[in-house]
Amino acid sequence: MPPQVILATYNKGKIKEFKEIFNSKNINVEILTLQDVKFDRKIVEDGETFLDNARKKASFLFNIYHIPVIADDSGLIVEALGGEPGVFSARYAGEGSSDKANNDKLIDRVKNLKDRKAFFQAVIVFVNKNGDFFEVEDRCYGEIIDIPRGDKGFGYDPIFYLPQYGETMAEIDITLKNKISHRGKALEKLIKVIMENLNE
Ligand code: IMP
Repeated sequence: MPPQVILATYNKGKIKEFKEIFNSKNINVEILTLQDVKFDRKIVEDGETFLDNARKKASFLFNIYHIPVIADDSGLIVEALGGEPGVFSARYAGEGSSDKANNDKLIDRVKNLKDRKAFFQAVIVFVNKNGDFFEVEDRCYGEIIDIPRGDKGFGYDPIFYLPQYGETMAEIDITLKNKISHRGKALEKLIKVIMENLNE
């Protein structure tokens, strides 16, 4: 049986990206989502930083299931908006808000801004079977545009423009997104540690 790891998210877009990365590297691991482990509680993401939230999710789940956990906390930072939406990325337009509502709010907030520079940031925390924590972070830089483009990806991808590709994050395919994205690059840094720990 392949080693198991819990992926601490309900976000279908994130699940798809993590699975694609593990598959593309032929890594023999069974990724259990929160649905798979029948976790039906809500972990309140009330930390001030992505790291606080990722650690909270990781330790909460490890303390229940006692198997390795990968927890990602991520979001979008628009520099000219003082870091908005930041840790509020998933609920920028209100608790439970849709990606479209969040995108609409951000488009409105940047409408008079000349400086549209933004970056996605991801923090990934891995907990091994002994409860040791490993933490990585990475970023992906781009600009916010007014008219959404593309139907791939999730979240703010349709309004996150990548000047070097002339496309938004929702127009590029998942393989390229995983290569250049905040989450893909952060996971790349952690993959060796994850594999060593899962296989020992
Ligand atoms: P989390 O699930 O609490 O980490 O919230 C992450 C939120 O940040 C998502 O709901 C999206 O709004 C945004 N986000 C994080 N990563 C991405 C990405 O790769 N593309 C688009 N939006 C993202």
